[in-house]
Amino acid sequence: MMGIPYGRQNITQEDIEAVVQTLTSAFLTQGPKVAEFEEKFAAYIGAKYAVAVTNGTAALHLSAMALNVQKGTRVITTPITFAASANCILYCGGTVEFCDVDAQTGLIDLDKLEKMLDAQPRGYYSGVIPVDFAGYPVNLERVRSLADKHGLWIIEDACHAPGGYFTDSNQVKQNCGNGNFAELAIFSFHPVKHIATGEGGMITTNDETLYRKLLMLRTHGITKDPALLQENHGGWYYEMQALGYNYRISDILCALGISQLQRADEGLARRLEIARKYDAAFASGPVRPLTPVGTASLLENGVKHAHHLYVVLVEHRKQLYDYLKGQDIFAQIHYIPVHTLPYYQNLGYAKGSMPVAERYYERCISLPMYPSLSAEEVDTVIEKVQDFITHV
Ligand SMILES: *Cc1c(COP(=O)(O)O)cnc(C)c1O
Repeated sequence: MMGIPYGRQNITQEDIEAVVQTLTSAFLTQGPKVAEFEEKFAAYIGAKYAVAVTNGTAALHLSAMALNVQKGTRVITTPITFAASANCILYCGGTVEFCDVDAQTGLIDLDKLEKMLDAQPRGYYSGVIPVDFAGYPVNLERVRSLADKHGLWIIEDACHAPGGYFTDSNQVKQNCGNGNFAELAIFSFHPVKHIATGEGGMITTNDETLYRKLLMLRTHGITKDPALLQENHGGWYYEMQALGYNYRISDILCALGISQLQRADEGLARRLEIARKYDAAFASGPVRPLTPVGTASLLENGVKHAHHLYVVLVEHRKQLYDYLKGQDIFAQIHYIPVHTLPYYQNLGYAKGSMPVAERYYERCISLPMYPSLSAEEVDTVIEKVQDFITHV
């Protein structure tokens, strides 16, 4: 028994066969599985285009490049996210501006965002990177209206939320990452995410120009498309027209991704079941679910939570973490506010500047949440958390 981690992949015999089949095929990379994964993922999300890349961080980096982030470009994001959501701006020489979170959800606070934008002339900020934190979809319709008013682009960091949606003001369900409000959205296929390829990522968009740019940037900025070439010396001829990277994902990993994608909805349903069980167990008491399934804001706003993380808030957070660890239950903390990380501190971001995020961080802890978590394991987690409660 290896204990219970906070998240883990679920690999079936079908997944293994899909990978083995690709290993013996003609293409290990740059073959048909990449395009197939992109098409199927785009269809699942409901976006026009998808570009598969090496990981979620590469997806963020290419997105920032495609939107021309450079020295002097100011981009807003949330401190309650994985560092990569902010780092992608720094990779391109831009400046990260943090906007504090909403205490109820841990998501970027849209009232604060509005105030931040209103305090500056149009053009001061260039873009915003909201994160569907823990699987709770950001209301992108509202972000879009703020972005339009202030001339911003949007990159939706949807790493936690494939399969999640919110309902817009016309009562239309809007899937996370569908590109109806954000210019670009990004996903990760790290093993703790909904769909696992080991390392892997995806960018979705409805914008054909950005899509073409991303394809080129993914492979060194090189194109062979006759329509784009400045000259043409023959069949071998290519041009490097921009400084890109090698962020290509292999066919082996895409075969795994395609196979995993078939079980995405099944996984979501199981995550919801687990969330409901935790919700019921922690309905009252000192361990409080961050966004229980029955929360008014979820139901009234027609929100489908993707349950990537099951976050609870508790005053004796470190003690709970250590206690669970002693019982072989490996909870995790999501996240240490990005602006408080030493690298960001050295850039001059101040502790105390994001009080809601910092207070959230003192109390948050993510309990195990993944589709293959068994009913007995869920019971064990609940029992151990309750043991802890009666002992503090
Ligand atoms: C996982 C994750 C990333 C980065 O994805 P990688 O595939 O690990 O590079 C970025 N943002 C968020 C919110 C994530 O959870």
